Amino acid sequence: MEQIQKNSLPVAIIGGGPIGLAAAAQLVKNGESFILFEAGNTVGASILEWGHVRMFSPWQYNMDKAAKELLLESGWTSPDEADLPTGRELVEEYLLPLSNLSGIKEHIKTNAKVVGVAKKGLDKLKTENRENVPFQVYVEIDGDTKAFEAKVVIDSSGTWKNPNPMLSNGIWTKSEQALKDRIYYGIPNVHELEERYKNKTIMVIGSGHSAINALLDLVELKEKYQNTEIYWALRKKHVREAYGGQENDGLQARGELGIRIQRLVDSKQIAVLTPFYINGVHEVNGKMNVSGDLNGEETTIGNIDDIVVSTGFRPDTSYLNEIRLSIDSAVESVEALAPLIDPNIHSCGTVRPHGEEELRQPEKNFYIVGMKSYGRAPTFLLATGYEQVRSVVAYLTGDLVGAKEVQLELPETGVCSTNLASSCCEDKSPVTITNAGSCCSGPIPIKLEIKSNSCCE
Ligand SMILES: Cc1cc2nc3c(=O)[nH]c(=O)nc-3n(C[C@H](O)[C@H](O)[C@H](O)COP(=O)(O)OP(=O)(O)OC[C@H]3O[C@@H](n4cnc5c(N)ncnc54)[C@H](O)[C@@H]3O)c2cc1C
Repeated sequence: MEQIQKNSLPVAIIGGGPIGLAAAAQLVKNGESFILFEAGNTVGASILEWGHVRMFSPWQYNMDKAAKELLLESGWTSPDEADLPTGRELVEEYLLPLSNLSGIKEHIKTNAKVVGVAKKGLDKLKTENRENVPFQVYVEIDGDTKAFEAKVVIDSSGTWKNPNPMLSNGIWTKSEQALKDRIYYGIPNVHELEERYKNKTIMVIGSGHSAINALLDLVELKEKYQNTEIYWALRKKHVREAYGGQENDGLQARGELGIRIQRLVDSKQIAVLTPFYINGVHEVNGKMNVSGDLNGEETTIGNIDDIVVSTGFRPDTSYLNEIRLSIDSAVESVEALAPLIDPNIHSCGTVRPHGEEELRQPEKNFYIVGMKSYGRAPTFLLATGYEQVRSVVAYLTGDLVGAKEVQLELPETGVCSTNLASSCCEDKSPVTITNAGSCCSGPIPIKLEIKSNSCCE
């Protein structure tokens, strides 16, 4: 196995989110040169779009170890590890200072969108000499498209820019696209958008933390503007399945989201539509009609003013067409990760630690890391991504033992189960899950009891 050569071409990093910048910090620590391309006008550009949302994991889990060491050497003061930052605070108190460090700053290019990656002179089909030629990274920058050469490419571009549509079959329709001025993808800043939402009828679609955050803010608005009506449409068989681990969650703030939303549902401040398989959205007399199969019956919910779609994200691999990739056909994650994170099988946010070996692609020296490595699976945590890039950089710099080491302990979600289809809601016996072959465990085997406040009652 060839290791990358020091003092030759740089490592190219795509995306200046927390994982891309952690990769940069790891490379700096190992004396490797890099060039980082960020499409936005600042690092953390995607996070700033949900900057108003408070994270559920405390600072302790949100900072990369190598990045923190570099920051501390520069005289930076760490935030209190127990505090929960908002997305904006994560950017302003951690990512920006990190990106401004000497040794990092001069290698970051903002307003630089990567639009193509290839091997020099060779399309995907050509094998001969493939491993010996550099990568060419095509970047839209300064009003032009420029090619940069690199010996390694680490794609940490996230998935935030590619939201899923509202149709439950995942298809984007023209009628949905035509209504995009009245549909918000992600988590709206309801306080800033008070005029848009007050006294309106709003449908929130999705069952994850993003949907729950949007709902909590909309209910707060409803307390002030009582004609505000809120629907919550989700595909789960029962709304209870969206509440998560609640008191059992290793991350208190994540558990509290479930507790708070349950209270609002129980007090009928939110009209729940579940299971709702949406198959269309249309404008009728200036309002929107949302149609689909609601609990087995074809149903249309009318008079909707505004919609929040929080149905998750999908990775963009279109600019990687000339790279040999191994992507799972269902999860669209890095292939080897799929069995660990497939939401059809696992309910866990905690995943067995993994590193370079699992992330390795058929294209030598090309890696997909961070949120994008999880594809469509919604359970990615920063701590997992930091461990990914630590392991990848250790491997690239010849520390093969370090690359294989596991340096990750994640808090449990409190609702871990495997084989959801068969176990959840049928088998109520406590489940013991160990490291071997399970999704859920950290380094220590854990015993979980599926509680009545999770999906299984
Ligand atoms: C609302 C919300 C709350 C979350 N809370 C937590 C939490 O509490 N704890 C936790 O561990 N995780 C949390 N996550 C999950 C996850 O950790 C974050 O999504 C995190 O931002 C992922 O980091 P990333 O670096 O992989 O991707 P991103 O942060 O999305 O960064 C990717 C970067 O790449 C750039 N980019 C995209 N395409 C290109 C391109 N073609 N060329 C160049 N640049 C490009 C983007 O502009 C962006 O800056 C949360 C996620 C969301 C959405």
